[in-house]
Amino acid sequence: MSLTRIIKEKALELGFVAVGVATAEPFTLYAEEIAGRPEMYAWGKTLSQRASVRDLDVTWFVDPARFIPGVRSLVVVTDSYFEEDFPPSLAGKIGRCYLKGLFCPEDNFHSQRRRELKKFLQERGIKTIYGPAPARLSGARAGVTDYGKNCFAFAKEAAGRSSWIVNEPFLVDRELEPDSPSLRVECPEDCRKCMEACPTGALYAPLKMDPRKCIAYQTYFSPGEIPREVRSKMGTWVYGCDLCQEACPRNQKWMEKDKPMNSKLLERASDFSLTRLLTMSQDHYEKKVWPLLYYIRKENRKLWQRNAAVALGNQGDPRAIPALVSALEDPEPLVRAHAAWALGKMGGKQARGALEKRRQLEEDEGVRKEIEDSLNYA
Ligand code: SF4
Ligand code: SF4
Repeated sequence: MSLTRIIKEKALELGFVAVGVATAEPFTLYAEEIAGRPEMYAWGKTLSQRASVRDLDVTWFVDPARFIPGVRSLVVVTDSYFEEDFPPSLAGKIGRCYLKGLFCPEDNFHSQRRRELKKFLQERGIKTIYGPAPARLSGARAGVTDYGKNCFAFAKEAAGRSSWIVNEPFLVDRELEPDSPSLRVECPEDCRKCMEACPTGALYAPLKMDPRKCIAYQTYFSPGEIPREVRSKMGTWVYGCDLCQEACPRNQKWMEKDKPMNSKLLERASDFSLTRLLTMSQDHYEKKVWPLLYYIRKENRKLWQRNAAVALGNQGDPRAIPALVSALEDPEPLVRAHAAWALGKMGGKQARGALEKRRQLEEDEGVRKEIEDSLNYA
């Protein structure tokens, strides 16, 4: 059996839903795309200063030889993250791939099988590095995924040919037999549903997304106040956003398919309720939330509280008013300001009364202004 075949069989045995092999020449298409709009990616270069991830300079990934000088091939495995259903209380709040913990600090079967595949390659004397390549382009070059106009990779065979998957490239120093690339868009010509579903205009044209405008970016990478004009567009999302995938007809069949409930997540769902997130202690954050949803740094719990306040304001359920009123007393001005906005958005006697009372006591100028704006709105 050829080495390529042996590796592919191992990947499938480990539970990856697809595997392909790509050649390792530089990703020139990717380089051209980034060079055409560098301002949209500049934020990544200092990302580690405000998020618990490394700095992200997307230009690094253009040439695989930067990471392994003798790189010859890419083994691209595909992981499916929507094989089990998600608790309904989390729908529309946290993106599915994050809930599934694909790349989180917690040890889980996703990280275990990545480690096992790496070990398997190394035991055969293959030098390998996991990760540093454009994942979606690698998948298309390896023939395991194609593209949607929403910029997502769609499985060619696995997971009902949906986009609820991720590609994970392993760079290797061996010449393997490459698969036929599938670098094409497989959407109906007249479909624009994903672009119409994007509330912020982040997805501004087929295959064009401005990450700075994406709700996902706003929820976990934006360090301070969320602009007022963006808040009401965020709906109830507090970490990521799935709208452009949910709207896609290519995903409907897989979304509607009966799947077993993810029981572990069901047990944990109340840890992530919006009111719990708004009022959570540091201990709750560090022990229950951060190990699974870790992009926001441990010392930045206030960003979660900010997001929860905005989501509750948009949800408009009056049962959340007491939690928002108590957040008006939070030591962090950022939390008080967004709680004030949410109460103003919800309106009504109780919300208005709480805002008026807080206005008398509030010492932070920015929060007082937010309260006054919210009272005009309420
Ligand atoms: S994830 Fe949400 S905000 Fe981001 S591009 Fe898709 S629909 Fe737009
Ligand atoms: S919504 Fe339509 S255009 Fe967008 S990715 Fe899906 S099929 Fe393609």
